[in-house]
Amino acid sequence: MTLRGRLTTAFLVVVFGPVLLGSIFVAMTVATVSQDRTAERLDHAVTTVRTGIGAICRQLQAAADAVAVVSASEREAVGRQLVVRGLASEIRIGAAATNGDCADPPGGEPTAISATATAGSVEITATQAVDGDFLARLAATSGAQITLGPGDLPESRELSAEPGQPLPLTLSVPQSNPTFLYAVLLTVVLAAGLAAVLVARWLAASTTRPLGDLALAADQVAGGALDTRVPIVRPDELGRLAATFNRMTRELQAYVQALTASRDQLRGHLAILGETLSSTHDVDKILQVILRTALAATGARSGLVLLLDPVGGQLVARCAVGLTGSWDVPEAELTKLRLPVGSGVLGGVAAAGEARRGHGEVGSVEPPCRTYVAVPIRAPLVDDPFTPVESTPATLGVLALYDRVGSDDFDDADLHTLRTFAGQAGIAVHNVRVHEEAQRLSLTDPLTGLWNYRYLRESLRREVERANRFGRMLAVLVLDLDHFKKVNDTYGHAAGDAVLAEFARRIRIGLREVDVAFRQGGEEFVVLLPETDAYGGAIVAERLGAAVRDRPMPIEGRGAIPVTVSIGVAVFPEHGSDAKQVLRAADDALYAAKNAGRDTYRLAAVATGVPEVNFDPTTTVTGGPQPPRQARGR
Ligand code: GH3
Ligand code: MG
Ligand code: MG
Repeated sequence: MTLRGRLTTAFLVVVFGPVLLGSIFVAMTVATVSQDRTAERLDHAVTTVRTGIGAICRQLQAAADAVAVVSASEREAVGRQLVVRGLASEIRIGAAATNGDCADPPGGEPTAISATATAGSVEITATQAVDGDFLARLAATSGAQITLGPGDLPESRELSAEPGQPLPLTLSVPQSNPTFLYAVLLTVVLAAGLAAVLVARWLAASTTRPLGDLALAADQVAGGALDTRVPIVRPDELGRLAATFNRMTRELQAYVQALTASRDQLRGHLAILGETLSSTHDVDKILQVILRTALAATGARSGLVLLLDPVGGQLVARCAVGLTGSWDVPEAELTKLRLPVGSGVLGGVAAAGEARRGHGEVGSVEPPCRTYVAVPIRAPLVDDPFTPVESTPATLGVLALYDRVGSDDFDDADLHTLRTFAGQAGIAVHNVRVHEEAQRLSLTDPLTGLWNYRYLRESLRREVERANRFGRMLAVLVLDLDHFKKVNDTYGHAAGDAVLAEFARRIRIGLREVDVAFRQGGEEFVVLLPETDAYGGAIVAERLGAAVRDRPMPIEGRGAIPVTVSIGVAVFPEHGSDAKQVLRAADDALYAAKNAGRDTYRLAAVATGVPEVNFDPTTTVTGGPQPPRQARGR
C-alpha cells in the first residue's frame, strides 16, 4: 500500500468514522422518539374515545330517562323530539337494550350503543347507531384511526367493551414516518463521506507529491544528474526538506566539479611527468616536474627536493617551488642551499631513510612552514645477484612538501602519494646516474681511468671552439713513452700495463683542474690545457717529463722501471686553425722530440714558418722545414 493510500485511509477513519457513528446515533434516537410519540398519541386517543363514548352513553341514558319520566301518552312525541334534536338516533319504547348496552355490554360486535330506562314495567331504550359516520367522527375527535372489533394494524391499541364503553374498538395512529429524515441523514452522510474522500485524497496527494518529486530527484541525482533541483512549494517541513535536498545537491555538484578539475589537473601533470621521464635525462627538469605534480596531487603550497651530494655528505637543494624567506632564491643559486645529513627534519629523513610529517617549527635552517611532510628519495631495488637481498636501497635525497592549502595537516593519503612520487624521483635519479655512468664508461679508458680517444675528439673540437669564441689560446700536448716496446719485452705486458697506469696517475697529478688528459691509444697520451699559450704548454711539458724521468715507475715484484717520455706541444690558434690541424702540429712536434733523442719536448712550428722562441735552454724548438715524417706506432 502506498503512502498516499495509507494517508487517505487514516484521514477517512479519523474524520468519516465519527460522522458515520454520529449518524447512526441520530438515526437510533429518531426511531426511539418516533415510537414514543406514537404511544403517546395512542394513549391520548384512547382517553378521548373513552371519554367520548362515555359521554354518548350518559347522553343516551339521559334521553331514555327523559322519555321514561313523562306520561305514557307523551312518550312517543318526546321520543321523536329527542331524536330530532339528535340526542339519540332511535328511541324505542317497550324494548330492552340488546345492542351495545352501556351498562352491561354484550359480547360480539354491536352495531349501536344503547341505554335503557324503565318506567314501571315499560322499558325505554335510547340507541345511537354505530356506523361509518359515527366511527369517522370518533376518529376525527381522537386523532386516531378507529375500527370496530379487533384490528391488525401495527402500532394499535385495542379497547374491549366494558360498562360505560360498550364498543370493542381498535385504535391506531398513522405512524410518524422517519424515512424522509433517514433519507436526509443518508444524503448528508453520503455527501460528508464524498467530501471526506475528496479532501483526504487532496491532502494525501499534496503531502505525498513533494515526497514523490523528492524521490524522483534523488533517483536522478543517483543517476549522475547533479543539477537536479526540486521546487519548494510551501514553507513547511516538506519545503525545508526540499531546500535541504537542493543545498545538498548543490554542494555535491560543487564538490564533484572541484574534484573533476583537480583530477584533470593531476592528469595533465601526470602526462607531463610521463613525457618528461621518457624524454630527458636532465635530473633537475625531472625533479621539477615530479615536485609540481606532487604539489598538485596533495594541494601543498610549497615544496623542495634535495639530493645527497656523495662527496660532501650534504643535502643539496635541487629544485624548489613556492618557498619563502632565505629559501626563496633564484634557480641558479639553489645548489648553494645545503643541509647537513642527520640534523633537522630533512637531515633526519635523509639519515634514517624514514618519512616524517608534522607541524610547527622545523628549525631556522630549514624552510619556514606550518605543516610539513618529507619522504626519502631512494634508489630502486635492483634485481642484481651481487646485491644482498636484505640490503635497503641507498637514500638519494629528500622530497618535502609544506603547508597544505586549507591549513590542515598532511594525512596518510598525502604521505602515500608523496611516497609514490619519491619512488618516481628515485627511479629517475637512479636512471640518470646509471646513464651518466654508462656514458662515462663509454668515454673512459679502463686501464688508466683517463678519457679515451672518442672523448678526445669531442673535447678537442669543443675546446677549440670555445677558445676561438672567447679569443683564448689552447695548448695541446701529445705524449709518447720512449721505447715502451722494450718495457713490455723486458718486464712483461702486465708490467707494461702497470707503467701505463702509473704514468697516467702522474699526468693527472701534474695538471690543473681545468686541464684534461686522454689516452689516445697504446702508450700515447694527449693533454688539453685551456687558456694556455706555448710558454705555459712548454712548462707543463717540462714538468710532466720530469715527473716521469725523476722517479722510476714502481712495479709490484719488479722493483722500479726507469721510463722516459717524449712530448710534442702545439697551440691553437698559432699552430693550426682547427682541432685537426693543432693535433697534427703537436704530433709533428712529438716526432721532432723523438728525433731529437727522446726524453724531451718540442714545440710545433708556427704555420707561417717563423721559428718560435726557445723557452728552455735544454730543449730545441722545431722550426723551418719539418723533418720527413716516419711511421710511428699508434
Ligand atoms: P718509441 O720510443 O719510438 O716510441 O718506441 P716504442 O717502443 O715506444 O714504440 P712503438 O710504437 O714501436 O711501440 C709501442 C709499444 O707499446 C707496442 C706495444 O707492445 C706497446 N703497447 C701498446 N699498447 C699497450 C698496452 O696497452 N699495454 C702494454 N703493456 N703495452 C702496450
Ligand atoms: Mg713509444
Ligand atoms: Mg708509440
